[in-house]
Amino acid sequence: MWQAEVRVDLAAIRHNVRRLREAAPGAELMAVVKADGYGHGMVPVARAALAAGATWLGVCTVDEALRLRQAGITAPVLAWLLAPGAPAAAAIAAEVHVSAASAAQLEEFAAAAREAGRPAQVHLKLDTGLARGGATPVEWPALLEAAGKAQAGGEVEVVGVWSHLIHPGGLHPDTDHQIAEFRHGLASAERFGIRPRLRHLANSAGVLTRSDTHFELVRAGIALYGLSPVAGEDFGLRPAMTARGRVMLTKRVPAGQGVSYGHTYRTERESTLAVVPLGYGDGVPRAASSAGPVQLAGRRRAIAGRVCMDQFMIDCGDDPVAAGDVAVLFGPGDGGEPTADDWAETVGTINYEIVTRFGGSRVPRVYD
Ligand code: PLP
Repeated sequence: MWQAEVRVDLAAIRHNVRRLREAAPGAELMAVVKADGYGHGMVPVARAALAAGATWLGVCTVDEALRLRQAGITAPVLAWLLAPGAPAAAAIAAEVHVSAASAAQLEEFAAAAREAGRPAQVHLKLDTGLARGGATPVEWPALLEAAGKAQAGGEVEVVGVWSHLIHPGGLHPDTDHQIAEFRHGLASAERFGIRPRLRHLANSAGVLTRSDTHFELVRAGIALYGLSPVAGEDFGLRPAMTARGRVMLTKRVPAGQGVSYGHTYRTERESTLAVVPLGYGDGVPRAASSAGPVQLAGRRRAIAGRVCMDQFMIDCGDDPVAAGDVAVLFGPGDGGEPTADDWAETVGTINYEIVTRFGGSRVPRVYD
């Protein structure tokens, strides 16, 4: 019998892909599966997303892209975070598309293309305001000129021109400015003879709320996992992850009993404590100490005292709770359990972080 598990509902992933495709019917869909599929498992999510109609996969690192290839996935993959010295030749040899933001990076990719014996398939990254990756508008001419030359030399094929939105949470006046900047960048590209097959700007919020961000390709992450990018709207998405643990033991303690490290919580009266075998080593935020909502024995309850590395406690009062009972940290919410959004609100973060924390942890992931 399992003691703690993260369940991932792949039917929900497939449903969400269909929702995203309906929302952007004219565009191809890139399923963003970086960071171990936002904690859901990169390879199973990638397979489910492709089966449901996504045609691209998006990751950060070459390592992530190569793991997709090693799993036998042949769909187009874009890796967008290559620091100097990243294994670009391996990416190119595996037909992984790479993102370039400078002439120097294009030179590195051209050299890697010679090593790999095939052209580098490149997406030029324009910074339209996020001030993260990408060339700033003053750097566009140098990037575009270098890209034109590299393309003419046959070592680089410019497949895409792209940018990323500042606001993952939806409607914002900055988005209008970014779309205008992006169009301006595309017009500059054209002047340098670059007419990309794929222009892409939209994240999940762009897909679901702004058709003017769609272009030929959209990149969706959070909505793929069924979590909404916009507070208070669910867009018909289905959350895919459920995190739960079985009560390991219960104990009766007197009133005034301090619970967990530092005794930051004390029972008000004689109570039953339930010990749940999940902690911050598994992804439970320590910031949820004395707060994190958990559904146990038909009720939502707060974690009592500090979250430990491997376990936490719940004060169940006089309720009948027994070892083996299931404590649900979060799930889709349709059974009354808390959601990843509830957890995000409780610990002052975003739903992205809550689910991603459960990636690569020692808790087994189980796929429905
Ligand atoms: N594109 C890029 C470059 C990203 O870094 C991300 C995620 O952070 C996404 C798309 C997907 O964003 P979202 O999860 O908001 O859909």
